[in-house]
Amino acid sequence: MAPVSLVKRPHESGAVSATASPLNIEQVDLTYPTSRGPLEALKALSFDVAAGEFVSILGPSGCGKSTLLKLVTGLMAPTAGTIRLAGDPVRGPRREVGIVFQQPTLLPWKTVIENVLVPIRAMGMDIGPKRKVALELLDMMKLAKFAQHYPSELSGGMQQRVGIARGLIHDPTLLLMDEPFAALDALTREQMMDELQRIWITTKKSVLFITHSIPEAVYLSDRIIVLSPRPGRVLHNLSIDLPRPRTVDTMSDPHFASLSKQLRQIFQVMQQP
Ligand code: ADP
Ligand code: MG
Repeated sequence: MAPVSLVKRPHESGAVSATASPLNIEQVDLTYPTSRGPLEALKALSFDVAAGEFVSILGPSGCGKSTLLKLVTGLMAPTAGTIRLAGDPVRGPRREVGIVFQQPTLLPWKTVIENVLVPIRAMGMDIGPKRKVALELLDMMKLAKFAQHYPSELSGGMQQRVGIARGLIHDPTLLLMDEPFAALDALTREQMMDELQRIWITTKKSVLFITHSIPEAVYLSDRIIVLSPRPGRVLHNLSIDLPRPRTVDTMSDPHFASLSKQLRQIFQVMQQP
């Protein structure tokens, strides 16, 4: 194992340029060693996420989306290329990243507020001052009355809102979300899109949102990055210039329809043999 460095990295000393992107991915390759030989999951992947920007990664199943997220969390290192957070290369898990998974993965024996505080305990941070923050986040998620309930007493959408509060508890600058609404029913999913837009506007976080839903990506994003089938690389980088806040009317806006159609056509071409 590499020795622990006592030298402060730029992000710890505050020396990094204030203009560095919260996330910068440059020429990233990831090849998994498998029993049947090397498997290329990502190839020459490059893009940035700007401060406060909502970026979606849209790509077919198996194109390397979850792999990309694992690389950004620092749980895995790229085979080639560099991932930077605020200008500083990722070499392991970092506090400026918050994660929301597809399943809320709440601990059933802990109350809602204790679940929100799990990352604080895991990071060895002081719990005391964070209780108030956890309550504020639960209030933002419209869950203030449920702080002392257990996860089994909550609906799927409410559990996922607890998952979002947990992802934000340590005040990350970048929120990573891996298909967070995929397990929810269609109506709850639409409600959650609105909730997420509101939370994003309130907190001003940068978001990297993984999805394979075209309407979800168009509704939520400032920019959509379309990945090719495996090995995933950037096929399109599409700005979504629909006005904010987006509402139910946005979905019937002709521009929403034309952006969705453009993306559907990209997928049709991709799926042709
Ligand atoms: P997505 O999230 O876009 O559906 P993944 O990132 O999960 O795709 O996987 C991309 C490709 O890498 C798939 O072909 C998958 O089988 C493969 N893969 C994912 N994780 C591993 C692993 N730990 N070892 C080997 N292959 C893997
Ligand atoms: Mg995945």
